[in-house]
Amino acid sequence: MFKIIRLNEFEKLSELASSFVLANNSNPALLCFDHYFTQTPSLVDMDIAAMEGCLTQFFDYIYILHQVAFVVDPCTEPRVWKLLGAKWNELEEKFLIPPGTLLHHHAMRSSTIISDSSIPLKFTQNQYAEVFHSAIRERLLDRVTRENDMCRKAPALSVCLRPIVYGDCNATLCPRSHINPDSEWFQHWLSVHLLQILVYHSVWRIQYRAEMLSQQRWGFQFIYFLTSRTDKVFRRFWILKLHEVLNPPHFSLGSSANVNLNNSVKIRKGFGVAIEWVRAISYTLDFWPSNYDFLTIALGAADLAFTFDRKEASVYMFRSEFARERCPQEYLRGQDAQNSILEVLVSFRNKEPSSLLMGILFIRYATLLWAPPSILTAVNTIFRHVMEVKIAVDINVFLNFIEKICGLLIVCNRYRWNQSFHNITLPSSWWVSILTDFDSIQASQQDSTGRFWLLLQPLGALLRGLYFSYYSIG
Ligand SMILES: [Zn+2]
Repeated sequence: MFKIIRLNEFEKLSELASSFVLANNSNPALLCFDHYFTQTPSLVDMDIAAMEGCLTQFFDYIYILHQVAFVVDPCTEPRVWKLLGAKWNELEEKFLIPPGTLLHHHAMRSSTIISDSSIPLKFTQNQYAEVFHSAIRERLLDRVTRENDMCRKAPALSVCLRPIVYGDCNATLCPRSHINPDSEWFQHWLSVHLLQILVYHSVWRIQYRAEMLSQQRWGFQFIYFLTSRTDKVFRRFWILKLHEVLNPPHFSLGSSANVNLNNSVKIRKGFGVAIEWVRAISYTLDFWPSNYDFLTIALGAADLAFTFDRKEASVYMFRSEFARERCPQEYLRGQDAQNSILEVLVSFRNKEPSSLLMGILFIRYATLLWAPPSILTAVNTIFRHVMEVKIAVDINVFLNFIEKICGLLIVCNRYRWNQSFHNITLPSSWWVSILTDFDSIQASQQDSTGRFWLLLQPLGALLRGLYFSYYSIG
């Protein structure tokens, strides 16, 4: 192993590290991985399968590093002393840190008192524990931050839709990836996103601690805002990416119907962490400071919550910041100034007889909000006062909500009159989504009669806008 490290034979090092992981031998695995990931592998030329392999190894590395940073007591674990070159001196009751080791470098960098880099350092148990935790957590944060930046920009995660929809694209000029999607590709695509969520989750405690320290040290709300905002931005980014994987812009890219949670432990863990993030994101989501991405995050998070965490979603979504605080003017619907965001949550919950209608009214309201004057004059004048207001939303997230409501409307309306699903033709992913939580009594009670007409005009306007681009959304 040391010979391979010395010769920088990275390919062999990566294979060796994985064999140590399989043998549950974490110390040498960490040494190999730490050397291998000194330079974050470039993800630019990797296809999605290669990227999954790379992220699986990176997650294994980060998992061991995280255990060392947070779980292991550095003062009582000889295997950790060995790993970092530290020695316990029984007589002096101090740890000896030789020069050239990670801890020695870190102590030199963070101290203005120690100036000679060739002298071994001696630490009491408390000093040793402090330097140890600081060094390992800094290494963890540095590696994950660099990898996260690369992963966000990886071409394999940015699929070009042109060849899939129209069958043409100049691949030499296009920076996106060109693929032939199938079920195997979908599993890789899903795995990569969940692995990255697991990887990024490993630094949450470090960033949370940094926030607390910033608050204590500076007492400035501004510092708190900056540190917490970076973390929020990345978590929201990956949650919306996961939402896109499960609800892609084209049916051939797969759907949530293709998800098999029994496939792998990492996939199940990834979903668990994703739901934890959805809770945290929802709970602190507010309309301030800008509503530029508010609606996209609210719709995406609510969709994931009510799909994958149905039992608990009602509790935390209705207690979230945006559900409790005063609703801004642009989200107040109709002459009675109904809170349209709360109506969206009622619609996602799908328990009340008015759930479906709430969803329809939101689609109608939000669509008309974006409509140009020529379209608006033809519809109900109630909506005219919001003409000046523009709300941005990711079109894929919004269309996904529309699909859910339209599917439910078709099924509930038919079920109400015939108590059967006969003669209904819908995409299979719509069926899976509807039947996962279908309740025949609730379906019969839904206020669906004559509601098709409420959607006709707004959806026509939206489709004309999308196809002919005479107004922009998001
Ligand atoms: Zn392209």
